[in-house]
Amino acid sequence: AALTLAGCSSNDRGGSTDSTDAASAGFPADSTIGVALPDKTSENWVLAGDLFTKGLEDAGFKADVQYAPASNTVAEQQNQISAMVTNGAKVIVIGAKDGKQLGTQLQQAADAGVKIIAYDRLIENTPNVDYYVAFDNYKVGELQGQALLDGLAARSGHGAPWNIELFSGSPDDANSAVFFNGAMSVLQPKIDDGTLVVGSGQTDINQTATQGWKAENAQSRMDSLLTSTYGSKTLDGVLSPNDTLARAILTSVQQAGKDVKTFTVTGQDSEAESVKSIMAGDQYSTINKDTTLLVDQTIKMIQDLQKGTDPEVNDTEQYDNGVKVVPAYLLPPVIVTKENAAEAYANSPSLLAIVNGQG
Ligand code: BGC
Repeated sequence: AALTLAGCSSNDRGGSTDSTDAASAGFPADSTIGVALPDKTSENWVLAGDLFTKGLEDAGFKADVQYAPASNTVAEQQNQISAMVTNGAKVIVIGAKDGKQLGTQLQQAADAGVKIIAYDRLIENTPNVDYYVAFDNYKVGELQGQALLDGLAARSGHGAPWNIELFSGSPDDANSAVFFNGAMSVLQPKIDDGTLVVGSGQTDINQTATQGWKAENAQSRMDSLLTSTYGSKTLDGVLSPNDTLARAILTSVQQAGKDVKTFTVTGQDSEAESVKSIMAGDQYSTINKDTTLLVDQTIKMIQDLQKGTDPEVNDTEQYDNGVKVVPAYLLPPVIVTKENAAEAYANSPSLLAIVNGQG
């Protein structure tokens, strides 16, 4: 489905159905590419910024990479995107701080013929997002749900039923619901048949959310749950959507004097501290979403747009942003536990060093 580029009336449309295709317009090979990233709450965002700067420049583009600072992030990111449009960026890659609040800026981009690639997080409620590139978020959730079940069986020292609690990510990030729904597709049947018991009864995403993906918010919710629900009962495991939150949950459990070696917590992102924790037998699992692969895939899309060809996508169904289904390129996430860490990080020297006890 070709998008029509506004202001193409001088093109000769006769004969070629592709002549009004936005992608076919192309742009100069040394153009500026904007990259607007959210904050530095996870290592993967920090790494992405560095990889985009280097990768775009190696490909001959000028890179304009910006982060929204910790305070007032939404307004700051909106301003950064507007400035990128004004400064002539041809493509803007966006890791959205709040994926529902970029409509005005993306309209401005569309009016200027700028292509938008949503990076890692979907941008919602706007027709002006051209592509989405991410790891398969639903699959991430499914892998987390399965890992929680596996960890409970392997570590708790007893059979079912197991007492668990559920955590989800920030409500302003479209990924949070997708991770949670993927995990619940595995866990809900086990809750229904009594294998798992959510002690607090908090199974709704509004009850499990972690505002801003902030560690302190997860830690304080875990503290309250331990006090309210697990005075005498054992908490066997927690679904955590990422590594930062997993470590906060472990801290809370440890501070309550509980043994983390018989406790299971999931994660995501393969952050160095969490890989250490996994090798020490504390955190049970993480997910490897190799940022290098995601950035490379994004740069490939940009190179196609530059040449005027349609970038390759492999999913045209899953990511409905409320206005349209955004064509996506999804990469496969990999579950990592202590057992397969060496294999999973074979291509990540710094993580492999941790696995081999040299980190
Ligand atoms: C990313 C996760 C990350 C989280 C917090 C999500 O959108 O997909 O990898 O852990 O944001 O930064």
